[in-house]
Amino acid sequence: MEPVISYVGVGSNLGNALHNVTAALSALQHLPQTQLHNHSSLFRSAPIDATGDDFINAVARLDTTLSAESLLSELQKIELSFGRERPFRNAPRTLDLDLLLYGDVKISTDTLVVPHPRMTTRAFVILPLLELNPEILIPDHGLASNYVQGLSNQAIYAIPKN
Ligand code: ADP
Ligand code: MG
Repeated sequence: MEPVISYVGVGSNLGNALHNVTAALSALQHLPQTQLHNHSSLFRSAPIDATGDDFINAVARLDTTLSAESLLSELQKIELSFGRERPFRNAPRTLDLDLLLYGDVKISTDTLVVPHPRMTTRAFVILPLLELNPEILIPDHGLASNYVQGLSNQAIYAIPKN
């Protein structure tokens, strides 16, 4: 099987969020059947539908021969290893890993919806994704870049690389 280009959203707003996201990006390097191709800058944003401190977010491109379901289950193992708990909906989280895109595939099951249903409404997904691929297409939605203007009210900035 040819590797599928997939994009994963990484977020944290509990504990040392900067550390959590950096460590999660490094954990993504060790997934089976998967190459971490590259990742975006780290971004800082205010919580939207969530509570707690600012979020640190990034998007990673993974080239993988795992199925989408297996990839999600590997991502959930990483979340658990970071002590992710789900006390209530949208609770602050040590680590959130969302499967945003899996090639140009559309999936809708009880456990997995791809493209991620809320990705086009979140600047912290769209901006890092565009940094990795300015031309990226979202199945059924078209160019990701078309969503930027509508998200301009969301406070977010890229953390400069040192
Ligand atoms: P959210 O990220 O939406 O705040 P969670 O991380 O708690 O919420 O995810 C809850 C459930 O969402 C997971 O158990 C998973 O099965 C489901 N899910 C559906 N589609 C996706 C996806 N594309 N990426 C990650 N989780 C997904
Ligand atoms: Mg999630």
